[in-house]
Amino acid sequence: MSLQGKTVLVTGGSRGIGRAVCVRLARMGGHVYCNYVSNPAAAEETLELIRAAGGNGEALAFDVADVDQVQAAIKQIGADRGSLDVLVNNAGITRDGLVARMKEDDWDAVLDTNLKGAFFCAKAASRLMMKQRWGRIINVTSVVGFAGNAGQVNYAAAKAGLVGLTKSMAREFASRNITVNGVAPGYIVTDMTSGLSAEIQAKIKGEIPLAELGSPEDVAGAVAYLASDDGRYVTGQVLHVNGGMYM
Ligand code: NDP
Repeated sequence: MSLQGKTVLVTGGSRGIGRAVCVRLARMGGHVYCNYVSNPAAAEETLELIRAAGGNGEALAFDVADVDQVQAAIKQIGADRGSLDVLVNNAGITRDGLVARMKEDDWDAVLDTNLKGAFFCAKAASRLMMKQRWGRIINVTSVVGFAGNAGQVNYAAAKAGLVGLTKSMAREFASRNITVNGVAPGYIVTDMTSGLSAEIQAKIKGEIPLAELGSPEDVAGAVAYLASDDGRYVTGQVLHVNGGMYM
């Protein structure tokens, strides 16, 4: 599975799943832009891992929820590299709370980053991909977008929204040889899930047929497949990476 000569942008590439995706796609030969919003030290660590794996890449700071920043960053990639071939919309946040207590700000922040951010990035990236007549857009959704989760109405709505966005974009872009797919992780060990108590983690494990939480590399493998030539005939699909917790 080669991405030799391809330019890759991974949003939220500085930590967790995004970091593993950056390293994996760089190992396949892609030149990887590792986006982050607030943590340059973490992005630098990702770049060190990319280099240690024999790959190339660079850090690129922008807020996916800010359309001006997104457009400027993707314009810069186009100017520097002449192409953008693979976009992984991975940046995401949580602002959990029961419906009765959830503030409008919590709703807006999660929808803006997790859903609108993916729209902004895909829209800007698709301009370059259409001209090239080749592209891969991979949206990181979640098991929660399918199964729902008490206390995550904002997050579940954003992640379910990403599924509709994925299928609609797949239909719009197919004639230009751009595939659009989703990857839906279950519970993956990252900063996002590190706050879960041992008790809750044990309960979650009990609900997973494979009886363990996933790793960022498990998700990166699915993204790598969809980005590669092996996945060329797959579009508008969501690949679940969840140990069987949702079938
Ligand atoms: P982490 O919290 O470990 O990392 C989040 C990443 O997103 C960081 O790189 C962060 O950058 C970046 N980010 C956050 N907000 C923005 C923004 N506005 N603009 C640009 N970058 C931003 O998350 P995970 O690795 O756990 O999750 C990655 C994706 O996978 C998310 O979309 C999440 O919803 C999804 N997911 C995760 C699951 C899990 O169990 N962990 C399960 C299902 C889905 P910085 O370092 O600068 O803060």
